[in-house]
Amino acid sequence: MGHFRQMESTNDVLDLVLATPEVPELVPAGVFDDFAWSPPTTLRWRTGRPLDRDEPLTRTNPGGMVFLFLDKCSFLPAELAWLHVPGLLRADEAERLMLAPYAIDDATDLLHEHRVPARDVLGLATGSLAGLFWGLHDWAHFHHHGPFEERAWTELQCDAAALSWLRANREILELDDAALATLLDQAGSLTRARFADEDRSEAVAREAWSRVEAFLDWP
Ligand SMILES: [Zn+2]
Repeated sequence: MGHFRQMESTNDVLDLVLATPEVPELVPAGVFDDFAWSPPTTLRWRTGRPLDRDEPLTRTNPGGMVFLFLDKCSFLPAELAWLHVPGLLRADEAERLMLAPYAIDDATDLLHEHRVPARDVLGLATGSLAGLFWGLHDWAHFHHHGPFEERAWTELQCDAAALSWLRANREILELDDAALATLLDQAGSLTRARFADEDRSEAVAREAWSRVEAFLDWP
């Protein structure tokens, strides 16, 4: 699989490191109260082969996308990973723990409160591109704290980060321009739906999304 850093492999799963470089703050002041309190750098990613590319992006986290604990973390709720992603574990990982699926928002708050960088304790496990998009979206949450009152704007920032990180790792992920364009299109629909939920005008949603497009500057 090319030049990317391969930590370990078996026939079934791969442990990779994805680049997650810092992204600029694209949203109005006050959406985040501590933007980039922990600058994102890299994400450890456990995946299967081949990557499932068929599932479209929808508004909810797809199944089979979890954050595995890399180290003990006393302040975050844990569950046994084999209950959720048995196909992404090695034979000797029956006791492997993951962040409880309901605790993404808790992790966003508690990592910030404890000043623990996400990369010290969490890695992503998912075998699908949709799972990777949402995992990267959540990865952005773990580095930028906010009150989550401006939901549509908060999510927009995290979508922008996820899209830029997918592109940053496009060679590893074997994403061509058409695949990136499809992801951008689907993410744009999510943004329009979120702004509509908040009774914002289409013009506001369009202006918001134009910030993402300007930042990404995709063909
Ligand atoms: Zn989110």
